[in-house]
Amino acid sequence: MPFNKLGLSDSIMQGVTAAGYKEPTPIQLRAIPVVLEGKDLIASAQTGTGKTASFALPVLSKLGAHKPGGPRVLVLEPTRELAAQVETAFRDFARFSNLRATVLHGGVGYGRQRSELRAGTDIVVATVGRLMDFIKEGGLKLNTIEVLILDEVDRMLDMGFINDVKTVVQRCPAKRQTLFFSATVPPEIAKIASFALKDPARIEIGAARSVNTSVTHAIYPVANEQKFDLLLALLAKTDFESVLVFSRTKHGADRIATRLRNANHSVAVLHANRSQNQRIEALEGFKSGRYELMVATDIAARGIDVAGVSHVINYDVPENPEDYVHRIGRTGRAMAVGDAFTLSSPENESDVRDIERFIGRQIPRLQLEGFEYKPLGAAKSSAKAHQGYGGRRPSKSHSAPKFGGRWRR
Ligand code: AMP
Repeated sequence: MPFNKLGLSDSIMQGVTAAGYKEPTPIQLRAIPVVLEGKDLIASAQTGTGKTASFALPVLSKLGAHKPGGPRVLVLEPTRELAAQVETAFRDFARFSNLRATVLHGGVGYGRQRSELRAGTDIVVATVGRLMDFIKEGGLKLNTIEVLILDEVDRMLDMGFINDVKTVVQRCPAKRQTLFFSATVPPEIAKIASFALKDPARIEIGAARSVNTSVTHAIYPVANEQKFDLLLALLAKTDFESVLVFSRTKHGADRIATRLRNANHSVAVLHANRSQNQRIEALEGFKSGRYELMVATDIAARGIDVAGVSHVINYDVPENPEDYVHRIGRTGRAMAVGDAFTLSSPENESDVRDIERFIGRQIPRLQLEGFEYKPLGAAKSSAKAHQGYGGRRPSKSHSAPKFGGRWRR
């Protein structure tokens, strides 16, 4: 079904066309009519499925035009990067209307956010801490909210924000529409959903545990002390546009970035110890292609959308199987093709097995041809020899149409 049959307003349809979207993704097909109808919604969809547009488009359509008075839509996001990204999406889709969106998050001054609120805005996208600051100082009231959107609620739970989220829900008018997005819905989250939502429609796109089907996965077993050399060798042998490298720790991320820079790669770093300006600079630089690689920790990278990430390399095996799904969600977004490599030393084998159990499939073990492996013991013998990609990609043409070869070797 094309977008124009979904009942979106004309100005928002212009925004959709300008964004280059041709057909709705499955979550958009199912969520847009429900949201337009005014129903509450609880949705679990894997990351990269077009979740943001599934709520932003119908909500903007319903708002129509800018109205003076307080904000009518509140979107809560777990991280600053997600808040900024989602607000940008709202602004982009609304650019043919006069609707106004404002982002509120920490790490930057209050001045601009305060003046945007004073000037009047229709949509507030916020992280919970800064939102509470504005509520406490009296600069923002939630009594005009008509639609409340809680995004990535499972992440908010992980990050310890759930009590603040409850407070925000209680401050919104009882008569409102509430949209609830969470990759997984464990009992604690179900409890919040039951008090925040009224008779919600439920949408589940794919199993909450599934990984993006447009991504090819591979484990590269390697001795711990050879991990960095293997990373360099993989980068040298692989035809990629932009690579996100995941580290378990902030210090690890800094160390990997320094070593990659010493090997003449241009590298951005994203983790929670960096200032907000440094985080913005890293993300913008990576998105624009100024940096070919970005080294990140899980918390900083969760949910961020960088169109054109051709590869995710797990320098460290993630501790939580769920984080594997989220890391891999950075590539192959909206059905582009992406590859995901995981470097695994023998001591990580049990973590890898946990991931395989979690995602319900085995990940092939590969060896990079031409790389001089030190003996590994059991882990090595299970790996098959392969060249670079594991032979999946016959030519560069797989990713060229979407990513446009901005950085290629
Ligand atoms: P999200 O899951 O909202 O983070 O979206 C993932 C990516 O898919 C973003 O880059 C969106 O711009 C893109 N996207 C969302 N919906 C569509 C669509 N219908 N057609 C093409 N790209 C889309």
